[in-house]
Amino acid sequence: MKNLPLERLSIGVAGAAVGQAALEWTLDYTKSREAFGQAVADFQNTRFRLADMATTVDVMWAFVDRAMKLYEKGELSPEEAAKVKFWCTEREWEILDQGVQLHGGYGYIMEYPIARAFLDARVHRIYGGTNEVMREIVARAVTGRK
Ligand SMILES: Cc1cc2nc3c(=O)[nH]c(=O)nc-3n(C[C@H](O)[C@H](O)[C@H](O)COP(=O)(O)OP(=O)(O)OC[C@H]3O[C@@H](n4cnc5c(N)ncnc54)[C@H](O)[C@@H]3O)c2cc1C
Repeated sequence: MKNLPLERLSIGVAGAAVGQAALEWTLDYTKSREAFGQAVADFQNTRFRLADMATTVDVMWAFVDRAMKLYEKGELSPEEAAKVKFWCTEREWEILDQGVQLHGGYGYIMEYPIARAFLDARVHRIYGGTNEVMREIVARAVTGRK
């Protein structure tokens, strides 16, 4: 039980790292792929999605960093670790889904890292305690009710 916050923090770190990787794969792909005579990265829709992904990655790292500082001081509470675990893995999932979409058909082909990551990341919302249970832990702390 004592180690659960660290396990959950580490899953949150994985979420941020995979989210960042997904952003980088998607940037590379959309800059090199051409459709209708231009790079996919130059469509306004793609640019807006990439901006969302990049901003989410930055916020994830800031949130993770705060939790890591608390952990280093021995002050990472179960509810703070639960917040990091469920929030980062859900943002990770959204970024991966967007990345798959921007890869088009190749996003569904397992030779592409984004497709493998999309499958592998699914477990992040399950193991280490499901995200529903993480929300229970946070809800207990914020409401003061069991
Ligand atoms: C690849 C993998 C590796 C794993 N490695 C480890 C490991 O190394 N060590 C270890 O101890 N465990 C490990 N696990 C187990 C993992 O932690 C559990 O699978 C996970 O905590 C969910 O428990 P469960 O499978 O019993 O699901 P259940 O508890 O049966 O949950 C089923 C569904 O009910 C929901 N649910 C359950 N309780 C509540 C509630 N109170 N409120 C709302 N919804 C609820 C869940 O969120 C889920 O959606 C691993 C699992 C996987 C898939």
